[in-house]
Amino acid sequence: MNYQSTRDPALRATAAEAVLDGLAPDGGLYCMPSFAELLFDWKRVLDMDTQGMATEILTALLPSFTKEEMRVLVKNAYTGKFETDGLTPTVQVGDDTVLELFRGPTSAFKDVALSMLPQLMTAAREKCGVTDEILILTATSGDTGKAAMEGFCDVPGTKIIVFYPDGGVSAVQKAQMATQAGKNVCVCAVRGNFDDAQTGVKNIFAAVTEQKLLAGKGVRLSSANSINIGRLAPQVVYYFRAYADLVHEGKIRVGDKVDYVVPTGNFGDILAGYFAKEMGLPVGKLVCASNANNVLTDFLQTGRYDKNRPFYKTVSPSMDILVSSNLERLLFLLSGDASLVKKLMGELKENGVYQVPVDLQRALHELFWQGWCDDEGTKKAIGMVWREYGYLCDTHTAVAWDVAQQYKAAHPDHAPVVILSTASPYKFPAAVLEGLGHGAKGDEFDIMEQLRNETGIPVPKNLAGLRERTVRHKDVIDRGQMLDYVLNKATTKEWW
Ligand SMILES: *Cc1c(COP(=O)(O)O)cnc(C)c1O
Repeated sequence: MNYQSTRDPALRATAAEAVLDGLAPDGGLYCMPSFAELLFDWKRVLDMDTQGMATEILTALLPSFTKEEMRVLVKNAYTGKFETDGLTPTVQVGDDTVLELFRGPTSAFKDVALSMLPQLMTAAREKCGVTDEILILTATSGDTGKAAMEGFCDVPGTKIIVFYPDGGVSAVQKAQMATQAGKNVCVCAVRGNFDDAQTGVKNIFAAVTEQKLLAGKGVRLSSANSINIGRLAPQVVYYFRAYADLVHEGKIRVGDKVDYVVPTGNFGDILAGYFAKEMGLPVGKLVCASNANNVLTDFLQTGRYDKNRPFYKTVSPSMDILVSSNLERLLFLLSGDASLVKKLMGELKENGVYQVPVDLQRALHELFWQGWCDDEGTKKAIGMVWREYGYLCDTHTAVAWDVAQQYKAAHPDHAPVVILSTASPYKFPAAVLEGLGHGAKGDEFDIMEQLRNETGIPVPKNLAGLRERTVRHKDVIDRGQMLDYVLNKATTKEWW
């Protein structure tokens, strides 16, 4: 199975090349043409442990690597890094199952993929015979940046630059990034919102490719955002893990459908659920949960994507996104039509809006349901879940929780529901504490302590003691300076 650009079938790449490059040269995303060629025995993996499951799934999706090679990469990526060997535990909360994706090194679900990506990237570099240093560029709405730096920290042959929206991440997220150790890491705030940072990064890729700005410099660019297929593939695994858990607990039988509710921003997490479904897993509805930046809710309802709307800073900042990159892959897979995708993406860039054809809209309705929840509803959900079930969830998970209840109310015949939980509540302590009905006092670190006192839930190790760590990264720039910043860094040998 080869990959191709979502905008041009002639731009093909092996899985290893797709991982290495991140973005296709025409600005499209690398994607498999369809899942038809992919033969995958989904039932067989249900009895495996998580690393075994990951080995099978990743080899199927990234066939540049043999199963033996992948087994080693998976082992190196995950062994000892998460709180449990299963990586992503499931917990019964009321009638629903919560899939905890945040038990990794930086307490966000991004760890699942970003522990794996450096392994894939360095193996791909070797496979493709590339000797250039890989410079990873990443835009982050708060969680990707930290998880990516942790993953790539001091990985030989790689360097990483992370851009985040100045003032657009939580104090805890900012402190996590600004205190990052490592000789090959760099973090920079950009004046603007996440979409500005993400567009800035895409423009740098385009400029560097078109004008060959790094030719002969011994450096090449790649991405750790979910535009990189190597970021997406590892996320497919936990859909299987959760399903297998439900089977083993006797809550479902093999073959029964399960509905998954996913707090969504860049559409990477939920797209991985679609991949799982295409690989055979009996996924029922994929429920797309948004915050007040509900561009996806409207799109899935109407087939019209319109980013011309106010941008809200919410208490679930990792979902404050109006341009969801991975939707492009879904449109490509559902239509099989790269020229249509190219046209729609052109309209999005030009006018900020596009309308999909009716048959595509129908296919979307089959697969997805959608809902959203504002900040007030988010905090209410946090308080309710804590009081009713003694379960403390973060703001993003609370959005999904609320939308899950909306979904069930609208579909009395729904399948068992799995809610994806994407971050530790201690990453967003102020809003969580308010949700519990307490006023927050002091800075976010005092509030973390206050939250621990109120709930007795332990603070994850990587977040406790954050306040004492030295701030190493202080750069703040304008959007227009991003390209120069990268070119300057790219040609500087020693960063520290
Ligand atoms: C990134 C993130 C999301 C959104 O995931 P996408 O793949 O961008 O849709 C949701 N919650 C948290 C906590 C995140 O960090």
